[in-house]
Amino acid sequence: KPHIHLQIQISLFGDDDRLIVAKDVTRLYQLEQMRRDFVGNVSHEMRTPLTVISGYLETLVDHADELPPKWRRAINTMAAQSSRMEALITDLILLSRIETGEQTVDDALTDVDALIEQICHDAKALSGEKQHEFTVDIADHRLLRGDENQLRSAFSNLVFNAVKYTPAHGHITISWTTNREGAHLSVKDTGIGIDPVHIPRLTERFYRADPSRHKDTGGTGLGLAIVKHVLLNHDGNLEIRSRIGEGSEFICHFPRERLVERVPESTAND
Ligand code: ADP
Repeated sequence: KPHIHLQIQISLFGDDDRLIVAKDVTRLYQLEQMRRDFVGNVSHEMRTPLTVISGYLETLVDHADELPPKWRRAINTMAAQSSRMEALITDLILLSRIETGEQTVDDALTDVDALIEQICHDAKALSGEKQHEFTVDIADHRLLRGDENQLRSAFSNLVFNAVKYTPAHGHITISWTTNREGAHLSVKDTGIGIDPVHIPRLTERFYRADPSRHKDTGGTGLGLAIVKHVLLNHDGNLEIRSRIGEGSEFICHFPRERLVERVPESTAND
């Protein structure tokens, strides 16, 4: 039998009176589910033909020297656009998986220390000629209860965005700190910044602060939507601080209950 979804609102008046309003949102919920399934299925179906196209294009690119210049340009453009589409489809599939909460995130422990190190390594490669200066500050070495793959997607999206939206020689600081409220992963850059009017909508799919600025960044427009849903799955939330021209800071907040002491490595075999 299908579930019924109710939205319940309780208002208190004085000491004793309460007004309880129950709204049947089953239809809305089903529609949302259908949308998610549809996007997930379409992306899956598109992946196979696209893989075939990309495969052939790759072969053509490898033999580009043998082709007339006019064709060479066309083929290079096609290859670049098809890898852009592949990135988009990969992100759509990832987002629909994360949104449906298919995998439970509570069975695993993630070594945030190691994760940040890997991501930083990849980010330096991406930074390339822009030669950003990276600073990593890890103040807590406990583990985080959560899914490593999802967390990797979220954190790497933030760090790669910092690389994309920070001009050459800028600074990128990644820090992992804890306090009484919980654990916080901050990615801070000295990049182009974001106009505050855009901040509330940045985590919407395909929302871009200023489309003209992003033509060449190669993003899919889904990065921050992925970050938001990963954090939701981990009872966390995203805070965005930014000033145009000065830089941005994206902070992932996690509740302290998710921190787990590291068990000292077994010495039984020594
Ligand atoms: P995209 O693939 O366009 O980067 P995202 O969802 O990752 O998509 O980000 C959404 C928008 O947020 C970007 O298009 C950009 O306008 C803005 N943005 C994200 N990160 C930064 C950053 N570090 N500095 C400036 N703008 C950013």
